[in-house]
Amino acid sequence: MNTLEHAAGVAPDLIVPLVGFRQWRLAGGGLASVYDGAPWPEGRLSARCDRGHGAADVPAKDCSCGVYAYYDLVPRTSSAATADLVGGAVVVWGRIEAHMYGLRGEHARIVALELPLSRGRKRRAVIEAAERLGVPAVPHRSLKAAALEHGEVLAPALRPKKTLTRAANVWARNGPA
Ligand SMILES: [Zn+2]
Repeated sequence: MNTLEHAAGVAPDLIVPLVGFRQWRLAGGGLASVYDGAPWPEGRLSARCDRGHGAADVPAKDCSCGVYAYYDLVPRTSSAATADLVGGAVVVWGRIEAHMYGLRGEHARIVALELPLSRGRKRRAVIEAAERLGVPAVPHRSLKAAALEHGEVLAPALRPKKTLTRAANVWARNGPA
């Protein structure tokens, strides 16, 4: 069941990498998708479709395939209370499907991770994961600036209009990732 707002999807033709924000789960010293547990080896992921779209068609317009990223920072509180959720920033490139609150991309690469406020095991794990990927681990307030060293935010004019209430929109909750 796919709850994306298909009718509003647009596919801008872009050259610069786009910046986005999302979360991962700390898993085995690396980072994995929150949605399906898929690993992000080397901090990268190329989209695959489990509904039959080939590599040349991902992300497909009427599908849920693609690597997900939000336009805006994921609230710090959505990772803070958990032992294993980590926020961070990506750049997305290749084919893009733009939605109201975020986009689905063909390829993505982690460019920064968000440092938890808490001391202790989780903070050390995030720092180690960032070092392994060769990306900075920065406080929430610095994440957007760190991301913008690598790409641009998709211009609001290129995003579908926000026609759904946030509560009704999968992107406003915990979108697939
Ligand atoms: Zn698909």
